[in-house]
Formats: sequence, C-alpha cells, structure tokens
Amino acid sequence: MSRGRKHALLSASSAHRWLACAPSARLEEQFPDLGSVHAKEGTLAHEICELKVSQKYIKPQPAATFKRKLKKLQENELYQKEMDGHTEEYLDYISAIMHSFGQTPYIAVEKQVDYSHAAPEGFGTCDCIIIGGDTMHIVDFKYGKGIRISAGGNPQLKLYAAGALKAYGMLYPIERIVMHIVQPRIDNNSQTELTVECLERWIKQIKPWAEQAYRGEGDFKPEDETCRFCRAGNACRARADKNLGLAEKEFKMPPFLSSDEVGEVLKKARDIKQWVDGLEEWALKEILRGGTVPGWKAVEGRSTRGFADQEKAFAILKGAGIDEALLYERKALSLASIEKLIGKKEFNELLSDQVVKPQGKPALALQEDKREAITLRTAAAEDFKEEK
Ligand code: SF4
Repeated sequence: MSRGRKHALLSASSAHRWLACAPSARLEEQFPDLGSVHAKEGTLAHEICELKVSQKYIKPQPAATFKRKLKKLQENELYQKEMDGHTEEYLDYISAIMHSFGQTPYIAVEKQVDYSHAAPEGFGTCDCIIIGGDTMHIVDFKYGKGIRISAGGNPQLKLYAAGALKAYGMLYPIERIVMHIVQPRIDNNSQTELTVECLERWIKQIKPWAEQAYRGEGDFKPEDETCRFCRAGNACRARADKNLGLAEKEFKMPPFLSSDEVGEVLKKARDIKQWVDGLEEWALKEILRGGTVPGWKAVEGRSTRGFADQEKAFAILKGAGIDEALLYERKALSLASIEKLIGKKEFNELLSDQVVKPQGKPALALQEDKREAITLRTAAAEDFKEEK
C-alpha cells in the first residue's frame, strides 16, 4: 500500500490551522506526532478503500490475490466489520463519479501531489483524483466521525486540487474542479466546485500567509476550532493566555449575566475544558516519566474488583449450592453493536424497517450545529397554572 507516512511542514490537513495561526506550523514541529488510535484506524480504512478502488478501476488483480490482500488488512487488530460497509460506500461514491462521464475518465488513488507553488515545500497525498473532459474531481475520504467536515471552503481540498492541477493541468484541458468529502460513518457527503481561475486566485491569496507560516512568523490566533487538534495546544502560551485571561476576567462578572454573556461564556468554556483536559494528560505523562509539575503528583486511579480466576470462583459458588442460571445474565446487543457486527449494508437490508428513533432529550448546541432547533413551548395557561 502506498499511503505515505511523511508529512510536509505545511501539510494540507493542518492548512485550516496555519492559515489562521501562522506560527502554529513551526511550533507543532517541536511536538512529535504520536498518532492516535483513531488516526491509525483511519489509515487502515484508507488502505481498504485504496485496495477496493484500485481493484475495480485501476489495476484489477486475480480474485484470489485481491481476497488475500483484503484478508491481510482485515487481520489488523484495529479492523472492525463496519469498515467493510463504510469502504463500500466510498467505492459506490467513486463509481457514481466514474459513471457520470460518457467515456472512462482517468483515475488515480493515493496520489502524492506537490503544491509547493502555493505553500513552501508543500505536498500531500490525495485519496482519489478523477479527470474527464474539462472536469477534475478531488475526493477525500474521512473515517473520523467526531467532526462533520464540509467541502465548502476547505483548504485541504484546495491544496490537493492545486497539486493535482500542477500535475495534470498540462495533460488535460481542466477548467472545472469538483471537490468532495466522503464521511460515511456520519452519512456526510459534501461537495463543492470552483473554476481553475478561482483556484489560482486563492493560491495567490494564501501564498504570503503560507510563506509567513513557513518562516514561523506572524501572530498567534488562539481560537477553539484552530487550537483543538494543534500538537502544541497544551504548551502554547497564546492559548493559555487567552484561556486564563478569560478565567480571570469573565468568570468574575457580576452575578446577573445577560443571555448574550451566557452564550459567549459557554462558547469559550468549551475550549477551556478541552485545554484543561489536555493539560492534565500532559502533566500526568510528565510526572510518570520522572518530571515534576509543582503541586501535583500521580496516584493509582480507581479500579474495579474482579475474580483472579472466574471459573474457579463460579465452581465454588456452584459447590455451595448456588444455581448456575443465577450467575449469568442474557443481554441483548445494542443496535449499534449489531450494526458493527454485521456491517451497515446487511443491517439496512435486514432491519431497516425495524428501527425506530425516539425523540432525544433536549440538549444545548452551538448555533452552527446542523441539527434543527427545537423549542419546548408550554401553553401560557400551563405556565401560570396554580398548583392545587
Ligand atoms: S495552540 Fe492555537 S494559538 Fe497556539 S499555536 Fe496552536 S493553533 Fe496557534
């Protein structure tokens, strides 16, 4: 598999950050990329996608070879059955684009593209590029499900498009670029398009910012969205200053906050919470590796009691006359676990008409949240009804 492990300083995936906070790229460079389990899961899912698209459209291999390669990926400890369904959805998405052309278009997967004309030493790996007629499609597969990613205004996609245009612009009469995000775990397929002229204008616009980021210059811009996955996030002074400044000033406001102020404080508090969680994690690691964080120490966390040997313990209970049936409970798997077990496709085929979704409990969400707003209005008479 060709999925690259190398990352440019000005990587496409962190472009939303270095375009907003220019010094972040050089600051992040000082913190190793430890690669979370989620990132590793994503890499595995990408590898399955690559194998499937390549098998169907690029380099079909004998069925036995394909099955062997797929099986090898499925033996990975991070593999889950639902990955099959999600990668099939991605394959279906790619197929729909392929079939939208009259003649078979050009297709490349996991293609390394060079966008150094937009950002110094910039390069990245684009999941899929499809070119036919005057149109180029740039497709990015997202296996994460924590944040809904949109194709609109997405600098990662634009940088891939810049690199792909550099590689193929001389070979194909590209005028139109369609960019896609395929995020099957949360049913999010997002698409946007722009002209080559528009992309070139954007490249010119961001180039001075990218050069500043490359030099590690410019002002820090601590913002919730920008700092969330910044590797320097726990140690960054600008973020700390912003958060501590807020803690000192805004939480000491008079007792009666206006609803405007409550809205503002709640928004900022989200970032403080994430930041404090990150600091706690960092401090624990620091102490466990022999460092000190004044005022803090590492202790043994809570744990739950268990039997050293469950079989032996149960044998003792049975020997004491406890009925075996009382020692076990028969529990149905949750809907989500069954879907994970048999895969989304089969789940939908067998059970789609058995699924109900009760109304969820009201929850607070940011205004930009995609879900529809609800209001629980009680009749005035109800509100002012006297207790009897
Ligand atoms: S934590 Fe935020 S402010 Fe600090 S470098 Fe990263 S993105 Fe910039």
